[in-house]
Amino acid sequence: MGCFLLMAYLDSTRHDHEGTLTSLDMQVGIMRKGPSTRASGFTESVIREMTRLCQAYGAVNLAQGFPDFDPPVSIKRAAATAISKGYNQYSTTYGAMGLRKAIARKVKSYNHIDCNVDEITVTCGTTEGMIASELALLDRGDEVVIFEPFYENYGPDAILSGAKCRYVRLREPDFKIEAETLKQAFNHKTKAVIINTPHNPTGRVLTSQELGLVRDLCQDYDSYAITDEIYEHIMYDGHKHVSIGSLPGMEDRTITISGFSKTYSVTGWRVGYVVAPKSLTSAIRKVHDFLTVCAPTPLQEACTAALQLPESYYEQLRENYRKGREMLVESLKNAGFGVFKPEGAYYVWTTTDDTGFEDDRKLALHLITKIRVGGVPGSSFFHNPSHGRLRFRFSFSKKPETIRRAIKRLERFSPKHPATRPDHRLPCRLAMTAGS
Ligand code: GLN
Repeated sequence: MGCFLLMAYLDSTRHDHEGTLTSLDMQVGIMRKGPSTRASGFTESVIREMTRLCQAYGAVNLAQGFPDFDPPVSIKRAAATAISKGYNQYSTTYGAMGLRKAIARKVKSYNHIDCNVDEITVTCGTTEGMIASELALLDRGDEVVIFEPFYENYGPDAILSGAKCRYVRLREPDFKIEAETLKQAFNHKTKAVIINTPHNPTGRVLTSQELGLVRDLCQDYDSYAITDEIYEHIMYDGHKHVSIGSLPGMEDRTITISGFSKTYSVTGWRVGYVVAPKSLTSAIRKVHDFLTVCAPTPLQEACTAALQLPESYYEQLRENYRKGREMLVESLKNAGFGVFKPEGAYYVWTTTDDTGFEDDRKLALHLITKIRVGGVPGSSFFHNPSHGRLRFRFSFSKKPETIRRAIKRLERFSPKHPATRPDHRLPCRLAMTAGS
């Protein structure tokens, strides 16, 4: 009876419907209300974590895909000029008119998508473009098709917007979209498919034929394509970029997202954009407005200047990255990695079966702490981490001398080298889960 009364008393002191906080907890100051279920549904970015570790251990950062060189002088000047000329307050929330006009011209000529300034939203990078689009398009219960391996933001983006992910494997060694496998992922709940070409992490550049398969299914199931084309100018060996939004029948079904970060080496500026049919654009603009109000005003001016750069700029960019690719691919092969030579973007996706490491996280820690070269554990590109335990990503978005420094260090990476012994002193969150 006493016990029953005590339980009744405790029950009566619980907060609202949460049923978690007792008067006893309040007296001793225990906070039982934690982060949202939403935020608990995913982990922090492994890519950004690798950068922090590289900084802590003085490792060459081939993990996070950002250049360690400056953008063209002309656009740096344009940014400085914009600040001194007074472009320092909010812009129109969905983007400065001059920039939207320049984007509309570029999207017509480069992506072959007919769009006007009312169909463009300038965002804080492609990252915000993706999440704003998903929040504007998806409801709880909707399904989203994601090709796997995938850039790690896509998982949390879907969780934040309440949608359920269906993963479709891009199979090695070609990473081609297979009609039958894709078809199985679509059903009447499929609201959108996420496209990313050139692809992070595999470097695949999707063809019109593959994108045509996606288009057919989008039409059959009344679905949208949300396409991340941030690497659209970075391709090798004659591969050409195709935007799914340019395919007949996709005009009203595509949200095309790109940005300035990779093409103009300004990843810290955070300027991107979303091109979508007008009805969707108004929803995307509302979400964008309440998320961030606007992208940085002076940098929007500088991005307008970037869009005036001549064709030779893009050719040089590709040529520089092509050289970096050759250097890194060769070195990784020599170090015992299996390499998928990328067709585009600036990552090398590798297999690690012959490195002596069976766990990508232990390999990451070893590379950073002992060899002092950073990369990204393959598991962070899969919804089931075990699928990526023998995969690893390196970026070559660096100066030639930085790549050379990494290559020199990688010469010490060999299963036979004394430096290559797993380190079990575990310095971070990743390390705490390594081996679990
Ligand atoms: N897209 C880059 C990568 O995959 C950078 C990611 C980021 O940290 N925003 O490494």
